[in-house]
Amino acid sequence: ENLREYTGIVEDCCCDYETVDSLNGDVLHPLLQELVTTPFFRYFKVKLWCDCPFWPDDGMCRLRDCSVCECPENEFPESFKNPLRRGLPSDDLVCQEGKPQATVDRTLDSKAFRGWMVVDNPWTNDDETDNSEMTYVNLQLNPERYTGYVGPSTRRIWDAIYSENCPKYSSGEVCQEKKVLYKLISGLHSSISIHIAADYLLDESTNLWGENLELIHDRVLRYPDRVRNMYFTFLFVLQAVTKAADYLEQAEYDTGNHLEDLKAQSLMRQLVNNPKLQAACPLPFDEAKLWQGQSEPELKQQIQKQFKNISALMDCVGCEKCRLWGKLQVLGLGTALKILFSVNGQNYPDQILHLQRNEVIALVNLLNRLSESVKLVHKMRPSAENIMGRL
Ligand code: FAD
Repeated sequence: ENLREYTGIVEDCCCDYETVDSLNGDVLHPLLQELVTTPFFRYFKVKLWCDCPFWPDDGMCRLRDCSVCECPENEFPESFKNPLRRGLPSDDLVCQEGKPQATVDRTLDSKAFRGWMVVDNPWTNDDETDNSEMTYVNLQLNPERYTGYVGPSTRRIWDAIYSENCPKYSSGEVCQEKKVLYKLISGLHSSISIHIAADYLLDESTNLWGENLELIHDRVLRYPDRVRNMYFTFLFVLQAVTKAADYLEQAEYDTGNHLEDLKAQSLMRQLVNNPKLQAACPLPFDEAKLWQGQSEPELKQQIQKQFKNISALMDCVGCEKCRLWGKLQVLGLGTALKILFSVNGQNYPDQILHLQRNEVIALVNLLNRLSESVKLVHKMRPSAENIMGRL
């Protein structure tokens, strides 16, 4: 039923759905999948403590590090309490009670990162220059998937994100910039839902994981605007990566593992300097159309503040692994916003782009997540529609 919804140009973007699907399937997805496994891109620095600034403790976030597991603090390995301690054996990380799939596995090789500037991202709430309480997480060991995090706590966060920070624009909404923020969040939400459904605990007793097609349909495919927003978010982030191409090509991907670092550099070059991408979709999103109005500086400040609030809301996410991916993807979006709206544009010609390592990691991992979601939606659309036909 929905196939017809996805033809023509992705709303407010410059490429059509078919081109996005084929570019993603043939070029972007394979490159990104390899890129995110390299050491540079798999370790993310994150503050995982739960100190929600918006409402009092609701019992979900009582314990540091393992909020959803709700095990007594004395059951925690001592080293859990020290965020910078590395190389924890993974066996220690499984909580005695609750939902182990919600816990972050902190197993980590010792890595050295060099040559990156430390600057704060104006779009996000966490101070990226502050290393206290930051921990490094191996993303490959912590895939975004179903964690069992459901109920009023999740609803409160999504509600706060939508109602307080980016109310759905009415069809007569003239302010493009506000529309962009809503679509970015909705697109990210669709992608998160797709990852939950794509890697779902189908049978708890046998620990059987797999795709839950019905859930993809119920949460995303049934709502064409959610799918469209996801394509929009994908193209928006792709545009940011394309715009930062020079920076990303020249950056140092140095972790001390020479061969792997060379591989990261080469894959990055293939991604940002891709002839197929340049031929088929040279301008995934045209940011120059935005911020043209009279009230531009105030509007930008207002939207930046709203996005910062969304970023702060990630501290209220009461499931550690969800918080990890929530924070990563919000930082990735904040980085895309910074690239497209803060620097080097016609409105800000004299500002030079500076990115920090963690921002680049978040940006690329976010693009990879969106790319996976776009690929899955493209693949599943016909079969999900069949399921609906049978119901
Ligand atoms: P929800 O997904 O909670 O949606 C709430 C409401 O938002 C819907 O009823 C609908 O009105 C609206 N809505 C839904 N999708 C969209 C959209 N795309 N655009 C616009 N509006 C929409 N759970 C996990 O299992 N694994 C995770 O990794 C994970 N990460 C999370 C990260 C964050 C930041 C948050 C806030 C939650 C996360 N969750 C995760 C929980 C998950 O997103 C859902 O909240 C939960 O599965 C309950 O789903 P639901 O069916 O109630 O709908």
